[in-house]
Amino acid sequence: MGSVYAVANQKGGVGKTTTAVNLAACVAEAGYPTLLVDADSQANATVALGLPKDGTPSLYDVISGDATAIDALRDTAVPNLQLLPSHPDLAGANVELPRRPGSETLLRDALAPLRDRFSYIFLDCPPSLGPLTVNALVAADRVIVPVQTEYFALEGLAGLLETLQLIQRTLNPRLTVAGMLLTMHDGRTRLARDVEDEVRTHFPDLVFDTVIPRNVRISEAPSFGRPVIHHDPHCVGSDAYFELAKEVVAR
Ligand code: ADP
Ligand code: MG
Repeated sequence: MGSVYAVANQKGGVGKTTTAVNLAACVAEAGYPTLLVDADSQANATVALGLPKDGTPSLYDVISGDATAIDALRDTAVPNLQLLPSHPDLAGANVELPRRPGSETLLRDALAPLRDRFSYIFLDCPPSLGPLTVNALVAADRVIVPVQTEYFALEGLAGLLETLQLIQRTLNPRLTVAGMLLTMHDGRTRLARDVEDEVRTHFPDLVFDTVIPRNVRISEAPSFGRPVIHHDPHCVGSDAYFELAKEVVAR
């Protein structure tokens, strides 16, 4: 039975997609059958793995009941890594889902038949706490929260943790926080070091040891449609995501 991880933070641009794509690629590279689910209508994770952002069937068709999750799976260039792609239509799901009774569990139910096929399933969430993120948190066993090491890093985290607790109490008692992940860290700046200290002090035991550095290889890899470990296997960005994969697998 595979483990399902949601990569979530309602802030945009904090490294959710980058982490979902590269962590999934590293875990797959280590030999585990892995699935990445792109639950953001922007389809950044889909494009980052070299697939078209408007292919069908997509997660939209799965959530709408027009395709099974198995039908929507795509192979990627990374061995052991499959993708359940997004589609721009998924934006409509934010309006459609709340109108359907029991809609919070649609993703969980759709993914249930896949849990035996994959050791790890990662869900890349949109930058909001809307219906798709709620669906991802209901489907997940654990949450990874990327936190950009910038001023205002802690802003919004309290709200996110409240949402997680609410979902634990109501829809998904299994849900736990796997960890907060410091991303885009620039160790040369005092600010980044201060933010790291602050986050670790505020959330003892909840922050991954691995810190993802700001690295140009990480940011350019998506434009080549491949994870950083295929773009430049020996850069500091690849090293960091391999370390993170080890931490995640060890837990
Ligand atoms: P989110 O999914 O939370 O909106 P992204 O993963 O798309 O955030 O990251 C936002 C931007 O920052 C993207 O352009 C991405 O390439 C870049 N980025 C993410 N992580 C890093 C990093 N460690 N170093 C450099 N650029 C990064
Ligand atoms: Mg994203």
